[in-house]
Amino acid sequence: MKAFTLSLIGAALAVSAFAARAEYPEKPVTIVVPFAAGGPTDKVARDLAEALRKPMGNQPIIIENVGGAGGTLGATKVAKAAPDGYTILLHHIGMATSPALYRTLQYKTLEDFEYLGLINEVPMTLIGKTSLPANNYAELVKWLEANRGKINLANAGLGAASHLCGLLFQQSLKIDMTTVPYKGTAPAMTDLLGGQVDIMCDQSTNTTSQIESGKVKAFAVTTTKRLTTPVLAKLPTLDESGMKGFNVSIWHGLYAPKGTPKPVLDKLNAALKAALKDAEFEKREEALGAVIVTDARTNPAEHKKWVEAEINKWGPVIKAAGQYAD
Ligand code: ASP
Repeated sequence: MKAFTLSLIGAALAVSAFAARAEYPEKPVTIVVPFAAGGPTDKVARDLAEALRKPMGNQPIIIENVGGAGGTLGATKVAKAAPDGYTILLHHIGMATSPALYRTLQYKTLEDFEYLGLINEVPMTLIGKTSLPANNYAELVKWLEANRGKINLANAGLGAASHLCGLLFQQSLKIDMTTVPYKGTAPAMTDLLGGQVDIMCDQSTNTTSQIESGKVKAFAVTTTKRLTTPVLAKLPTLDESGMKGFNVSIWHGLYAPKGTPKPVLDKLNAALKAALKDAEFEKREEALGAVIVTDARTNPAEHKKWVEAEINKWGPVIKAAGQYAD
């Protein structure tokens, strides 16, 4: 009798747990963006949130900006959050560069997250303040050479895309610059517009409108192919400008804390795939030079494999550059 009662209770609990998961999401979902509001990753998150709303049963999607330490503070917050699908992370290539950069990372990149799928790939642009005398890439290099020791290069902290790109740029030119870290490239852009810093390597999602309105000077793109977005199409690649092989493209992905139930993960992945096909999202991404991922990396297993491959690709580059933080 006792065993029978217990098994009934067990069955009832299983049914109610299933019902709870089947209803997910039943309250707003928070996407943690590990960079400042108004920046490139934030823009992707806000546009994606719009596209996710319908496939997520019209629940509000809240964006929480947790900037600092090149994205690792926001990633830590999600790694330690309740694994219930209500706090997820939207992060970029920093997921793969941080393990080599930080000696004491508060999370294990490949073990502490559930991988939900890649979102997009974003080229970067090399831009400068309008008061720079240089008007094209060759003139920029001349100016940089003539101003060794005086150049300020903005970035969003160690582990940020702007850090990686700036690091490779300095190495290729063999010119050391003073890096000025921000909580994201949104505040960095404000200072570039104000002329407090000289140059920055930043994602096209943050620079396209500034380039278009002439508020910054644009010198080159970081991908090996020229871009097709009209405002950016005229820019040469760094590769064709003499930095053979220079190729930095940033990707964004979605993550949940480890241990999030499978039905919740399935729902999030299905919602992500639906959002990536949203016509408005596609239009906005295209206008900013970003390319939506449509291949197998929108699946959790391939997403994880991709991040692992990126860790293996960038780790040695970063270590060789002698870059690290505690
Ligand atoms: N993604 C960062 C941001 O949104 C910038 C960076 O990684 O360089 O501010």
